[in-house]
Amino acid sequence: MSHYRDVYCGSPRAQDVGKRLQLAGWAAKRRDHGGLIFIDLRDHTGIVQLVVNPENAADAARVAHEVRSEFVLHAEGEIVPRAPENVNPGLPTGKVELRVERLSILSRSEPLPFQLDDEGVDEPLRLRYRWLDLRRERMQRNLRLSATVVSAIRRRMEELGFVDLWTPGLIRTSPEGARDFVVPVRLQPGRFFALAQSPQLFKQLFMIGGFDRYYQIATCWRDEDLRADRQFEFRQLDIELAFPERDDVLEVLEEAVTASFEALGREPPSRPFPRRSWHDVMARYGSDKPDLRFDMEIQDATEATRDSQFGVFASAPAVRFVTVPQAFSRGELDRLERDARQLGAKGLAYLVYDEEGEVRSPIVKFLSETELEQFRADPGSTVLFAADEPALVGRVLGGLRSQLGRELGLVDESRDEFLWVLDFPLFEWNEDERRWTFSHHPFTGVKPGDEDKIESDPGSALSLAYDLVWNGWELGSGSIRIHDQELQARIFRALGMSEDEARAKFGFLLEALRMGAPPHGGFALGLERFIALLAGEQNIREVVAFPKTASGSEPLSGAPTPIAPEILRELGIQVLPDER
Ligand code: ASP
Repeated sequence: MSHYRDVYCGSPRAQDVGKRLQLAGWAAKRRDHGGLIFIDLRDHTGIVQLVVNPENAADAARVAHEVRSEFVLHAEGEIVPRAPENVNPGLPTGKVELRVERLSILSRSEPLPFQLDDEGVDEPLRLRYRWLDLRRERMQRNLRLSATVVSAIRRRMEELGFVDLWTPGLIRTSPEGARDFVVPVRLQPGRFFALAQSPQLFKQLFMIGGFDRYYQIATCWRDEDLRADRQFEFRQLDIELAFPERDDVLEVLEEAVTASFEALGREPPSRPFPRRSWHDVMARYGSDKPDLRFDMEIQDATEATRDSQFGVFASAPAVRFVTVPQAFSRGELDRLERDARQLGAKGLAYLVYDEEGEVRSPIVKFLSETELEQFRADPGSTVLFAADEPALVGRVLGGLRSQLGRELGLVDESRDEFLWVLDFPLFEWNEDERRWTFSHHPFTGVKPGDEDKIESDPGSALSLAYDLVWNGWELGSGSIRIHDQELQARIFRALGMSEDEARAKFGFLLEALRMGAPPHGGFALGLERFIALLAGEQNIREVVAFPKTASGSEPLSGAPTPIAPEILRELGIQVLPDER
């Protein structure tokens, strides 16, 4: 296997008894027992016991006495059966041990900042000493799983005729709705590249350039706040197809997901994945990435409350509710009201049905029999209402729904729920800037028939964008693109871009669209999110070898750092004092 070892530590079994083997790995533990020295030797495949007997291997015993945790060792000897009382049924190698004849220390270790088998180590310490953390089972499992998934995806993409093409990291800018990381360039002081937020425009140019099936495991950079599902840099399975129907793109993604499940020996989700419109999903779940592993759908009561004696209901543009399978106490309702206010609600109306089915609520006296009939719920449940603008009502009830789904253990963890969300709105209203902005990116196709709304009613125009959601996480998005330069120019105008600005920023795209652009569309799947979910992790940092912390730094090397004045001078950059 190598100069140092014949097999991995995790492999010796009873049938190897009698074999002479060399092993190499890390000392996980050392125990001295009445003259005999036992060492647990570990690598990523497992642990094997070394036994050193000073009576027949005096040199090895001298070396063994020096061994401490995480020393790197090389051992040579014979695989022998363990004495019956020493058999360890919990260990795959537990029936045998290596009777050491020669032992050498290949590398020593200082006392460690944490023990490798300690589960409770703080994340900052784990990240600061990531090389130790990587040695542990969790990171070994996650990163190897990640590699398995990436290689299965590559294989499947290539079977499907996709060509792996590289696109630049240093680009003009790719508007994906985040801030760019900017990169100064010595040869052109005062000018900056952006690090690609995605390969979006380049993959479109591949389609125009006649590569009809492109894919790439692409690194993307986005300067946005870091969260459990976000890092500054991440990888996407980025794809683009020429001449596709929307469903062709969705099927390719389903293939990639299926291949990943299969590579991990797991039952893939059944196909086709459910498909629902954005409007439908927002109305039922108040979120465009709903977790479908539990029900608790939002119900509408706007019509039913038009003549309500409860003024808040009667006058609200939308009244909706969710029924929660728990009769909440006063204190719990206070807390939920605080949560609702945080989500933007002015208050939280409720009806509590106790175990006897009796209703308890300050608003019950205002509600008619017909209204109460409409809201009736099982004993031991609570109906929570939101009454306001529809978007706000959705946000509040959607937020409470997912919070309570988690808190009350309603999520059925044994289920995997994939969902395609289709027909997103083309634009979103940006209240701060008082203008329309794109909801996916500005190259997203318009739903046929909605073209006129671009100017006349931007808020109701639908797009050809779609998202893939898994268990409440957005895995990625894509769209059928605009391949007509006239339409593209209209979108830029609707986004408030002057003709000059559009030409300056995206002239090359408009030009390319005028020179034989086929219909095209694609998708990007956030790989770290997907892999985190496959690994059963809640945070993508657990599947990234060297992640940034929530504050945006890299604890291992201490990046980012200031740079030397002469480098700044060469780049023509002056750094202003930090005034935040
Ligand atoms: N470029 C898009 C993104 O990164 C994906 C796509 O539209 O293909 O989200």
